[in-house]
Amino acid sequence: MEWKKNDRIQVTIEDMGDTGEGIGKTDGYTWFVKDAVIGDEVEAKVMKTKKSYGFARLEKIINASPNRVTPRCPVARQCGGCQLQAMDYKEQLAYKERKIYNNITRIGGFDEVPMLPIMGMDEPWRYRNKAQFPWGLDKDGKIITGFYAGRTHAIIENGDCLLGIEENREILKIIKNHLERCHIRPYDEAAHSGLIRHTLIRKGFHTGELMVCQVINGKSLPHQDELSEQLLKIPGMTSISVNINRDQTNVILGNEVINLYGPGYITDSIGGVKYRISPLSFYQVNPVQTEKLYSTALEYAGLTGGETVWDLYCGIGTISLFLAQKAKKVYGVEIVPQAIDDARENARINGIENVEFFVGKAEEVLPREYEKNQVYADVIVVDPPRKGCDEVCLDTIVKMGPKRVVYVSCDSATLARDMKYLAERGYEVVKVRGCDMFPHAGHVETVCLLELSMFPVTVAGEGK
Ligand code: SAH
Repeated sequence: MEWKKNDRIQVTIEDMGDTGEGIGKTDGYTWFVKDAVIGDEVEAKVMKTKKSYGFARLEKIINASPNRVTPRCPVARQCGGCQLQAMDYKEQLAYKERKIYNNITRIGGFDEVPMLPIMGMDEPWRYRNKAQFPWGLDKDGKIITGFYAGRTHAIIENGDCLLGIEENREILKIIKNHLERCHIRPYDEAAHSGLIRHTLIRKGFHTGELMVCQVINGKSLPHQDELSEQLLKIPGMTSISVNINRDQTNVILGNEVINLYGPGYITDSIGGVKYRISPLSFYQVNPVQTEKLYSTALEYAGLTGGETVWDLYCGIGTISLFLAQKAKKVYGVEIVPQAIDDARENARINGIENVEFFVGKAEEVLPREYEKNQVYADVIVVDPPRKGCDEVCLDTIVKMGPKRVVYVSCDSATLARDMKYLAERGYEVVKVRGCDMFPHAGHVETVCLLELSMFPVTVAGEGK
């Protein structure tokens, strides 16, 4: 059957894509229907067709899935932040778990996956410790803030995202009043003019400390001291700054931060380790789940105090410092120099001395240290970006032969590929466990433990 734009189709949603869009079939032809939930029978309007698949827009739900719920947020459908709010939270977890399992079996080629139940949140709302709100004008020229719509930079007005902290509402209200009163124009991307681009808000969940940083296309914000005074009325306000970003770019933050009030950072802690967070530092956005994720990684590392551990892709050293409390020595490797500065500073403020950090690519630092200095590891932890580990890195891990490899992954497809590589070279998959760091959004984290098998598999071409 040939479909044309604006045709109506009826389809039952059977699966969900990577960004949470519903997937269903008519006569073997696949449809992607945004906002439809697994189990829904829907009527949809054809938008675009390709040879074997097409995109259709949800028009009517004929039979609602038993897992469909009314989104709590009134703009859930328009806003690009959430993809799964129309799905019951238990079902979201089941979907994410299935995604991990399917990737490991299909891409990794494993017959069985030793999976433990996914770690979900008891209260999957208001979990984010960070938000970046863009400023703009609505049709009538009124100043608005909120979040970008899915694929465009149209601002969907929303001062109280249900994933964010309650203080956002009051902070944004104060800033909006200030912008209106002082006639400060929001930044216009197309014209590359206007002053205020974004407001970055962060909170230390353990300490209650708040940070506000205005990203501006200029040198300063008019009457910024008055604004700071207003913001300081909010309990917990610890750090106020502006960030200069005068580039025509999608990147939110520029490199320069001008401090207006406080020490230039806030402090928070995860599992007893303190962290200093400045406007430019990377820090996990869901502290409650991060603690569960890192505790699982620590448990899988099986440390007794005497081990040498390498933490590859270590960022600001969060996992490294967590592990250092139970290991003899931890080495961290990270490509971003500023992150390593933060990691060293974090080690210092916690009085942790058994860590050492390297700046560089994991696939360069590890082979170099192994070949030059014959470094050794009992355990190697990796937490790579979505593209997974470089083969040179995996190959060096295999050569070093640690007893355990703990793989923390934000993309189970590349995890599955890398698990296969390690499994073919003597590692056995012992445990796999999902952790829901982003309730209502499509992504899921996975922790996997691989152990050096007692009966190594010989790989063709090796060890003749
Ligand atoms: N483990 C950290 C960060 C994980 S995010 C935490 O939990 O906070 C992945 C990190 O890998 C990022 O900090 C990124 O800068 C870094 N990275 C990306 N490619 C890399 C490479 N080739 N070698 C080392 N680090 C890399």
